[in-house]
Amino acid sequence: MKTKLSDKKNIAILGSTGSIGTQALDVIRANKDAFSVEVLTGNGNADLLIKQAIEFDPNTVVIADESKYQYVKDALAPHDIKVFAGNKAIAEVVQMDSIDMVLAAIVGYAGLESTLSAINAGKQIALANKETLVVAGDLVTKLAKEKGVNLYPVDSEHSAIFQCLAGEFHNPIEKIYLTASGGPFRGKDKTFLSTVKKEQALKHPNWEMGAKITIDSASLMNKGLEVIEAKWLFGLKPEQIDVIVHPQSIVHSIVQFTDGSMKAQMGLPDMKLPIQYAIGYPNRMKSDFPRFDFLTHPQLTFEPADIKTFRNLALAFEAMHKGGNAPCILNAANEIAVAAFLKDKIGFLQMSDVVGNCLQTVAHIAKPSYEDYVETDKETRRIAKEFLNF
Ligand code: NDP
Ligand code: MG
Repeated sequence: MKTKLSDKKNIAILGSTGSIGTQALDVIRANKDAFSVEVLTGNGNADLLIKQAIEFDPNTVVIADESKYQYVKDALAPHDIKVFAGNKAIAEVVQMDSIDMVLAAIVGYAGLESTLSAINAGKQIALANKETLVVAGDLVTKLAKEKGVNLYPVDSEHSAIFQCLAGEFHNPIEKIYLTASGGPFRGKDKTFLSTVKKEQALKHPNWEMGAKITIDSASLMNKGLEVIEAKWLFGLKPEQIDVIVHPQSIVHSIVQFTDGSMKAQMGLPDMKLPIQYAIGYPNRMKSDFPRFDFLTHPQLTFEPADIKTFRNLALAFEAMHKGGNAPCILNAANEIAVAAFLKDKIGFLQMSDVVGNCLQTVAHIAKPSYEDYVETDKETRRIAKEFLNF
């Protein structure tokens, strides 16, 4: 068995084969003296997981898709790396003593169990998986507080707010503004949206991301999820959170304090920066990421979000105000809707229809337990599939 004795921060990367996971490995590759990789996990992309394991030599890898276990195990047989399969195994390995920090970068509800398990074991969390906070923000933040665990945001807007709060943690927030690029369909109307295909929706103007979040960005559900994520991360009331569309994605978000002063964090849109800030906190580490040049961006513009055309954002605010299991319903219905849209089974606008329908039909629970969330997620998926015939 390998023992790692060093001052390096030992990181478990959940979802290492995804967009955030691979960029986190880029950051780690460039800062090998500061970090070592203890765990890597993937789902379908076994070949990339194997390649990453051979390069980064973690203690353990887990492939969530159990049908790929033997393939990964055989490929890594010559190496001193443990191999497990399944989501239960991910939830178990995150508790290993040798892990200092867990980067939660699995997409969707699938990331909830392992994140809760890591918090339970007292691991510091770099949180990319926003759905975890949307689904069960009350449980996650309560448990983190109990266990003395910090949740370092990876999402660029929340990282921006966190960076603006450095040195200000004792000062109350009056309000925050989450910036939104507006996505590829900014300015379009419902007639246009009714004809949109997934190939168009997958082309984000400013960010390269996984498929699910790219569709969420096009439908503004991503911003809706982020509003709820911000509520839990920063302990805000719904009326303290506003969204402003900023197509250039240079100002990543803004905090307004009780004296009226506003702080914004700026930079080129590059997820490596918030990833590095989250895993390197409290240090700002040197990087060679491209620098912002004012003259290539002479104008930064701001406009209101069109919540009549992009209903998802309004639905997310509605779910946040309703509270309880409503955001969990919103999330589960949206996960089904996005999957159906990505398989060309439904149109772009139908995604909001199913979310709206599920928010109306699934039973509301004001103070859900973990089991209630699991049940709500399951029931909502069933109803959403039935509604969409998917
Ligand atoms: P990707 O789809 O690119 O990657 C998702 C990762 O999760 C992959 O490693 C994938 O494995 C794994 N995975 C997928 N389904 C399961 C499952 N059922 N069980 C276990 N693992 C699974 O997503 P992103 O990296 O874009 O996003 C990850 C999270 O970060 C999301 O919650 C997203 O909202 C958030 N985020 C992403 C940003 C971005 O720029 N990409 C920005 C801000 C937040 P495999 O690929 O092997 O199938
Ligand atoms: Mg974001």
